[in-house]
Amino acid sequence: MEKKKSINTIGVLGGGQLGMFLCKASKKLNLKTIVLSEEKDCSASKFCDDMFVGKFNDLSVIEKFMQKVDVVTIETENIPLKTLRFIEEKKSLKPSSKVIEIAQNRIKEKKFLNSLKEISTTEFNEINHFEDLLKAFNKFGKKLLLKSSEFGYDGKNQFKINKNNIDEFKKFNLKGFVAEKIVNFDKEISVICFRDNKGNIEYLPPVHNIHKKSILKSTTFPPNISKVTEIKAIEYAKKIALNLNLVGVLAVEMFVLKNGQILINELAPRPHNSGHWSLDCCEVNQFENLLRAISKQKVLAPKIFSRGIMKNLIGKEYLKKITSTKNIKFHDYYKKMVKEKRKMGHVTYIKKL
Ligand code: AMP
Repeated sequence: MEKKKSINTIGVLGGGQLGMFLCKASKKLNLKTIVLSEEKDCSASKFCDDMFVGKFNDLSVIEKFMQKVDVVTIETENIPLKTLRFIEEKKSLKPSSKVIEIAQNRIKEKKFLNSLKEISTTEFNEINHFEDLLKAFNKFGKKLLLKSSEFGYDGKNQFKINKNNIDEFKKFNLKGFVAEKIVNFDKEISVICFRDNKGNIEYLPPVHNIHKKSILKSTTFPPNISKVTEIKAIEYAKKIALNLNLVGVLAVEMFVLKNGQILINELAPRPHNSGHWSLDCCEVNQFENLLRAISKQKVLAPKIFSRGIMKNLIGKEYLKKITSTKNIKFHDYYKKMVKEKRKMGHVTYIKKL
């Protein structure tokens, strides 16, 4: 019988702030991290044990990276499927390429979610041509959201459009887009689930997220929602993780409507910005639980010890240098350049439970 290899070195695809926090958390668990990033001076570069710089579609770099690690995980879902499958042929990839494939394409994701009993997403239409857009307006009314199915994040490739100004989209290549009905939600919340290789599930409970121009502005725990909504949101997130046969982490973004209905907006099978409060308010943060899940350790209850409000520092907001105190925790992402819309750091304001 083949001897089970223990996990000592984690390979991380991507070197942004999520990768950086993973590298930091690995020290507590005595794990090593090797990052593969497309950028040399990325946030994770200061904290990883080793690093490869290369394109995610360069299989020769991927091959070298793989040889050095015991398991591979992601900090961005925007990795070519070909690369993910290549890795999975030889190494353990957590979450699996199947899970990432669903989460990196809005149409596949929505079809999967709607196939689950009791779970629904916003109404949507697949868009490939201008005529599809006209049909979508007939279904959704005067306004809708047009989003690219793949490679869109933080509002990239997303357009709120009005029937009166659709002509400009006539010259657009609309292949692989999705049109969504605009939801008049009461609140946006998210639940983050962790599932280990034995099937144990733990979660960070719902938090209230506020977005501005499609970018997360703040996350608040606790979220001021009803007990019924809280229980339902957790149940949905667990159900989705289970049906994906997830090993790793899954963030589930949801819209809560005025009538209490919950619609799933998006899935992210990686650590999530709305889980950053766990760094300062929980004994086990989202990064530690992901590492546990993928290194054959048991995922643990987060053990929340305080309330928190996490605020992202986007673009120039970062320049108002904030100093950490007992109840204010500043996290720097060490990005080389301040850019508009770029997440540069975050602050957590901690309050007693
Ligand atoms: P997404 O990239 O799909 O997560 O969208 C980013 C943000 O845009 C969401 O967090 C919402 O604030 C908003 N948004 C996205 N889709 C919709 C929708 N169908 N109706 C209303 N707001 C939306």
